[in-house]
Amino acid sequence: MAVRTDAAGNLVGHLPGSDPDAGTLLLGSHLDTVRDAGAFDGPLGVIAAIECVALLRAEEVSLPFSVDVLGFSDEEGLRFGTPYLGSRAVAGTLDAATLDVAADDGVTVREALAAFGAGPEPASRRGERLLGYCELHIEQGPVLEQRGAPVAVVTAIAGATRAEVRFTGRAGHAGTVPMALRRDAACALADFVLAVEAAANAEAGLVATVGRLSALPGAPNVIPGAAVASLDVRHADDAVREQAVRQLRERAAAIAAGRALELEWEERMATPAVAMDPGLTALLAAAVAAGGAPDVRLPSGAGHDAVALSELTATAMLFVRCAGGVSHHPDESVDPADVAVALDVLDGFLRRLGEQAG
Ligand SMILES: [Zn+2]
Repeated sequence: MAVRTDAAGNLVGHLPGSDPDAGTLLLGSHLDTVRDAGAFDGPLGVIAAIECVALLRAEEVSLPFSVDVLGFSDEEGLRFGTPYLGSRAVAGTLDAATLDVAADDGVTVREALAAFGAGPEPASRRGERLLGYCELHIEQGPVLEQRGAPVAVVTAIAGATRAEVRFTGRAGHAGTVPMALRRDAACALADFVLAVEAAANAEAGLVATVGRLSALPGAPNVIPGAAVASLDVRHADDAVREQAVRQLRERAAAIAAGRALELEWEERMATPAVAMDPGLTALLAAAVAAGGAPDVRLPSGAGHDAVALSELTATAMLFVRCAGGVSHHPDESVDPADVAVALDVLDGFLRRLGEQAG
């Protein structure tokens, strides 16, 4: 491949197709990781794409369309707090103001790109003839292991709502205020946490998490006058997620009213679900079936570069089983046999798309 680094620091490998008018298929994933990460979240998708190109070259298979392998520069958003930096640049949706965002050490995105040696060529692929974007990625969850399947075709990337929930009652002495006269905010929060769990259990595909909670002022001998929690709700169907959030808010209000407390509910973030392209997804599924692996379809609960690329072109994703569903951790691992299945699927996908385009 002809290789370059674009203006957003993405590594781009280009394999020309036999028909210059047939457009370009994008493959890849991200090269950055979280801190103290595993080896597979991101890089596996880049290396798998390179392997597929190598196989095409070795077997002298020429596809009508060009294949570009993208290694995105910054997906996790750890340094600048801006996820999908590389892929948003490729999609042409990166706000110019993002270049002036500074990391904790004061270095801006612009300065970091210059220091890294980003190339002169603009990252945006907007306006080009593109066939789509396909990303291979580890599942980062335990479902494939539980189903006993090596790979899954991703149906959608779940939308998410985040909120901060605060119950306010009255602090008091833990020894002198009788139980019947208390307005204990932590007890309301405890009710709410279990209501969140019950709501998610009652709706297929819904996941809801209270990941941070605190009782204030936070002393063993003081009745909590306030209690604060984060809420994270995800589902592949926006209507289901929005309905669940509405119902949880009503439930929180009822819990507060029942204990004579005040409720504050602040929605901090809401991102819509991203559907994968039916045509590309069908080609991936056909490649899975041809290899004899079970047909498993999964929504992705985590975000990926495909979210950003979906604003540019048709997208599809293939998940690979990872041990114990462990990710964002040095223990992250994949079985080479599963990777072999995934490579076979990606190769089958490319050849099928080639036949369709040719
Ligand atoms: Zn990733």
